[in-house]
Amino acid sequence: METGQIRYNKLFINNEFVEAASKQQFPVFNPSTGLKIADVAEADEVDVDVAVAAAKAAFSRGSPWRKMDASARGKLLNKLADLMERDIKNLAYLETLNNGKTYKDSMADVQASADIFRYYAGFCDKIHGDTIPIDGSAISFTTKEPIGVVAQIIPWNYPIAMLTWKWGPALCTGCTVVLKPAEQTPLTALEMAWLTKEAGFPDGVVNVIPGYGPTAGAALCLHDDVRKVAFTGSTEIGHKILEYSARSNLKKVSLELGGKSPLVVFDDADLDEAVEVAFNAIFANHGQNCCAGSRTFVQSGIYERFVRKASERAGQIKVGDPFDPNVTQGPQIDEPSLRKILRLVDSGKKEGAKLEVGGVRVGEEGYFVAPTVFSEVTDGMRIAKEEIFGPVQSILKFNTLEEVIERANGTTYGLAAGVITKNVDNALAFARAVEAGSVWVNCYDYITPQTPFGGFKKSGFGKDLGSESLNDYLVTKTVTIKLPS
Ligand code: ADP
Repeated sequence: METGQIRYNKLFINNEFVEAASKQQFPVFNPSTGLKIADVAEADEVDVDVAVAAAKAAFSRGSPWRKMDASARGKLLNKLADLMERDIKNLAYLETLNNGKTYKDSMADVQASADIFRYYAGFCDKIHGDTIPIDGSAISFTTKEPIGVVAQIIPWNYPIAMLTWKWGPALCTGCTVVLKPAEQTPLTALEMAWLTKEAGFPDGVVNVIPGYGPTAGAALCLHDDVRKVAFTGSTEIGHKILEYSARSNLKKVSLELGGKSPLVVFDDADLDEAVEVAFNAIFANHGQNCCAGSRTFVQSGIYERFVRKASERAGQIKVGDPFDPNVTQGPQIDEPSLRKILRLVDSGKKEGAKLEVGGVRVGEEGYFVAPTVFSEVTDGMRIAKEEIFGPVQSILKFNTLEEVIERANGTTYGLAAGVITKNVDNALAFARAVEAGSVWVNCYDYITPQTPFGGFKKSGFGKDLGSESLNDYLVTKTVTIKLPS
């Protein structure tokens, strides 16, 4: 199938590229240059109705999708993974062009995403309920049923990966999907939509409607035929998503929101290893990562040496064209993001943190920021409290385990945390006490298809990945049969 058939200026509904009802389009940019890549169809409330109707019909009783064996769904997911691997260079190219992450990282993201589909492919025919020995002369059994039409709203920082995290469990369980990609990065979602058609998913099972949050996104979340919303994005919008559910049909909601995750380095750590883990924890994906280790707590005995080495390490990053294989950091996603990062860097300087390296924009074209390290950061500073979503490491000093647990938890967020130490007691004490959905010991960002991921507190609820994510897409039905007495 030719990729030339993909239409960025159309929506993908019912296995076809169709025009937006309003014929409106919006521009999508290359963050490395600030130049337009394509005009993309803009969905609004009318298109949301059409897409939801298609997904509803695909989910209706007796539809090909509902009649399909669970194992056949698994074959489709495996086929989709095959097609991603076949088209990996094209997908990675588009991801880098549209998002600005390095081509190497895009290749890794596409491969990891295909692996996620394979993980869920194996699960399709292993979803089952229980037989329950109930009181009295009767037996009960439960079935796990797909919840129905799901709306999925994703951010721009990992466009293909976020799509896969959402589609994997939804398609595994037999739901149908309407996905709204982020307005900044809709291109690979449209490519992926086309691949679902080639893989053989029936009409209406997967629909992709690019558009803006307050219009298309809100209409999806308010729609009475949508039974669940899966959202990844900011905590601010997370509040709205819950409100939309409350105002409409009380649809199920799962939210994967922001973070201000602590990474704690104890004195006994191997210094070079700790610097490297902390470096990757914050600078991966240019800091545009909801679980970024954005508060690096270092114990006082090694603090000065750690700061020196961390600053040297950040200084080694090569910023530039993300297609250049020697470059390790591309641009931030857009101008507002760039401005926000620079504003927060300014606040750090004004509030008394010590700027060790970086802190400035790089070049005048595109949205590049120099890798930045602050030392002498204290808990009350904005850079220690707010999600920066950029390549800015804030290094804080601590003395004791009890103190660092208290401070690590001193945030409204609870997405992730890390600890680096050779002392197993300290590692376990921290892991048990920290309020975070994922805790990494002597590593960071170790995310696999098998492990559930999702936050505590204002980082949201519900899980992506792992078998646990399936629960969000299933409803349990209890059937009780009276036996002859
Ligand atoms: P970010 O700050 O990372 O861009 P957002 O939470 O603003 O995070 O956006 C994440 C996703 O949520 C995007 O797809 C965006 O279009 C969508 N979105 C933004 N506002 C709304 C809204 N009011 N209703 C539904 N979706 C929204």
